[in-house]
Amino acid sequence: MGYLIGVDIGGTNTKIGILNHEGNILKSTHIKTMGDRGSDYVLDNIKGAVLSILNEAKLGIEDVEGLGMGIPGPANTDTGVVEFCVNLKGWDKLNVSKALGEKLGIPVYVGNDVNVITLGEAWRGSAKGYKNILGIAVGTGIGGGMVVNGNLVSGTSGAAGEVGHIKLIKNGKLCGCGQKGCWEAYASATGLIREAKSRLAVNRENLLWESLNGNLESLEAKHVFDAAKNGDAFSKDLVAYEVEYLAFGLSALINTLNPEVVVVGGGVSLAGDILFGPLKEELKKYTLPGSLEKIEIKAASLGNEAGIIGGAALAASKQD
Ligand SMILES: [Zn+2]
Repeated sequence: MGYLIGVDIGGTNTKIGILNHEGNILKSTHIKTMGDRGSDYVLDNIKGAVLSILNEAKLGIEDVEGLGMGIPGPANTDTGVVEFCVNLKGWDKLNVSKALGEKLGIPVYVGNDVNVITLGEAWRGSAKGYKNILGIAVGTGIGGGMVVNGNLVSGTSGAAGEVGHIKLIKNGKLCGCGQKGCWEAYASATGLIREAKSRLAVNRENLLWESLNGNLESLEAKHVFDAAKNGDAFSKDLVAYEVEYLAFGLSALINTLNPEVVVVGGGVSLAGDILFGPLKEELKKYTLPGSLEKIEIKAASLGNEAGIIGGAALAASKQD
């Protein structure tokens, strides 16, 4: 069997790796995406980096079975067309499978980044061995990936899994998508930081404020979790806020999908037990009991390599 290439393209950096069929990374690299220079430039750059690491691994393009790429936006895994992508200029409606496939002469597959990461977690991460999987990434926003009976659900145009825009609150907080009351406006890292800042505006007698050394703009979700772990009551309240809203949105998805496992990734998942412990309890308030009986809630395990491994997992899934 040949090798697989995984590509994780982001607004700033693009990670590329060569993997074998066991999902082990043989060689990887990262390049600046330079998305403002247009799709042709970006894809030529990716081609150059792919050929260069193949060369370092003493392999040729003929040794590669396929390349899979996670895109920060909706992307159709069947057609290879990116629906839209706000971070990359000229990628709206671009057929990346065709454009990059012609440059490299190998099959190229694309998918939404969190969809692809969920496939990676299913292949060799926290969801390995499961067939019904819900993956969520809680960071700047909230993205999702759904695997049902072993198959990724990518939807009619590749936009399935945009779970961050489930409406939780009528006329609620404004979301980055332009609508109001979306889940990610509350429970993403951005939502948590927004809540923390509004509370810090009226209360600065706490460890969280001390930890910022007067620089409110430096506030990240990690500061909140760290202060809470150190016993700060103010930050513990913020963690309770995060847990409550996370459970609120997650319950809608669990009731819909009845997954065996929920894999939580993204920056917020690094909080660990302080988040996952109470989350399982909180879910009981909102989720139908039958759906919770056998469920496991786990942190994602592939870390920074999740996108590369997921890309290769996508390519592998298309080879079968
Ligand atoms: Zn939204």
